Amino acid sequence: MTSGGKLNPLQAIMDIRHYTLALDVDIEQQQINGYTSIDLLLSQATDTLLFDLVHLLTVKKITVNKKDAAFFQKDDHIFITGPKIFQPGKQTVKIEYGGQPPVAVKPPWKGGFTWTKDQHGNPWVVINCQLEGAKVYFPCKDHPSDEPNEGADLLITVPNGLTVAGPGLLQGVTKKKNKTTFHWKTNYTISNYCILFDIAKYKVVNSEYTTIEGNNVPVMFYVLEEDTAYAAHVIELRKRDTRILEKYFGEYPWIKEKIGIAQVPNPGMEHQTMITYGDRFTYKKVNGQDYSDNLFHEFGHEWWANKVTNKDWAHMWIQEGINTYAEGLF
Ligand SMILES: [Zn+2]
Repeated sequence: MTSGGKLNPLQAIMDIRHYTLALDVDIEQQQINGYTSIDLLLSQATDTLLFDLVHLLTVKKITVNKKDAAFFQKDDHIFITGPKIFQPGKQTVKIEYGGQPPVAVKPPWKGGFTWTKDQHGNPWVVINCQLEGAKVYFPCKDHPSDEPNEGADLLITVPNGLTVAGPGLLQGVTKKKNKTTFHWKTNYTISNYCILFDIAKYKVVNSEYTTIEGNNVPVMFYVLEEDTAYAAHVIELRKRDTRILEKYFGEYPWIKEKIGIAQVPNPGMEHQTMITYGDRFTYKKVNGQDYSDNLFHEFGHEWWANKVTNKDWAHMWIQEGINTYAEGLF
């Protein structure tokens, strides 16, 4: 199961504008249930719309522009077949679905969901899907060449007492009985594999960074409550590393949102504006200063991978190569 490759003609005629994900996460059952709403522009008329979604998740209902649509699932695809021809222009497709998403084999390299617990037994749930693609948990055009131009909204519902970390800025937190919904929103274009969330008993440690161009950007570290004591040093290193990366590559790319870090139980990944970190607060010394490969490398991907993104995985060497060179610049 991979994303990218040769673009299917049915997907070559669609330009994804925006994704909205609304999912209830059932931690006991290791299930997700809800919907994804996709805004897209069709460049020509078609009798079929094609999306990607792992076969383990079951689609219950689909509407196109609020009208019920016929569909079937085959392998990791959803084919939407009418009732009528879909005309060029804007289409809004809402897909209700749910089930048990795949479990990560070796995150972040072999991805999926990781359902684990912190040292105090609190749930800790994270997602990784760089190469598998976001179809491991939401219906999408799973190709690195098409980022949603207007970003994404995530409405993630979890049991009370847990916190959801996500991309962009937190719009609101609403409680209903024993559940809490976190609404994260990014207005920037974003790779599918970065439209993700992490769930834990997080404490949010806040700071602020002034960019090389003089803009103030919030710095937010979603750290396990039990590891709060380590947070200040990580933030200090993140600010130092930002200064170095800005010197060589220009201003931090997402100044209207945040510099985010989320602690996860696996080596980190470049999840845009919420870079994950799983180094257990260990450092090596470089010229007498604390340095973490994981912290620095994944953050460098904000410039190379997130701002400058490969259209095809065959070009991944550009972002990995320049970003590895950045480590040398440090
Ligand atoms: Zn990398």
